[in-house]
Amino acid sequence: MADNTHLLLRSNLKQLRLPTMGAEFEKLAREAAAANEGYEQYLLRLTELEVAARASNAVQTRIRQADFPVHKDFDTFDFTAVPALSKPKILELARGEWLTQRANVCLIGSPGTGKTHCAVALGLAACRLGKRVRFYTAAALVTHLEEAQKQYHLDRVLAQLDRTDLLICDELGYLSFSRGGAELLFQVFAERYERRSLLVTSNLAFSEWGQVFQGERMTAALLDRLTHRCHIFEMNGESFRFRESMKSKRSKKGD
Ligand code: ADP
Ligand code: MG
Repeated sequence: MADNTHLLLRSNLKQLRLPTMGAEFEKLAREAAAANEGYEQYLLRLTELEVAARASNAVQTRIRQADFPVHKDFDTFDFTAVPALSKPKILELARGEWLTQRANVCLIGSPGTGKTHCAVALGLAACRLGKRVRFYTAAALVTHLEEAQKQYHLDRVLAQLDRTDLLICDELGYLSFSRGGAELLFQVFAERYERRSLLVTSNLAFSEWGQVFQGERMTAALLDRLTHRCHIFEMNGESFRFRESMKSKRSKKGD
């Protein structure tokens, strides 16, 4: 192909926002010529590259927007370390149907049992399915809501949260909130009821949530909505961190 044609083609593809086709058309054309491929076959392969790149970029964008604190996936999760957690059930959730059903997930357990790891892995799976996900610790979410309220743009922040298919609220129960903070969190949870999914992790059993939400009525109302269509997993057991550190100490001692 003449240089001029290349330039024009590159410019057209740029204008049409087809960057992968722009980057690949020459190489693919050489391959097509060598393999005696027809025009349509060539065009198909070229467009396939663009489609694949777009899908991958969209997932990367979803993952960035989710703002996960770490990127931990199920490939590094040792299910044998948490016998109480059903691997088939968790992997079933990773397929995402619960999000379509607007159901919730609660991971309850003591510190170090892999709640955040599992929550992130489920969040990553949702991103790969094209879902909009947002990860917050409960404390950060409440601070975010309180700040928004102070600056008179709570509505905007609530609308943003409402656009997410999955809101992950990690570490509920480590800190208790002010009455106002608890009410804001309640509002977010209640608005999602049967419309959007929530994933909550907590070190507290449900019976202790009153400590966080200050007030039996609000806690009961919240639990009622949250647990109505909810996959609840109790992950109690020994801390994975603790166990790993004991293992490495033992191996250093040589026994
Ligand atoms: P939690 O949120 O329950 O306090 P984390 O998910 O933060 O616990 O887990 C603590 C650390 O231990 C993390 O580095 C996590 O990746 C690791 N971890 C916990 N449970 C497992 C597990 N079953 N398999 C692999 N790593 C785990
Ligand atoms: Mg955690």
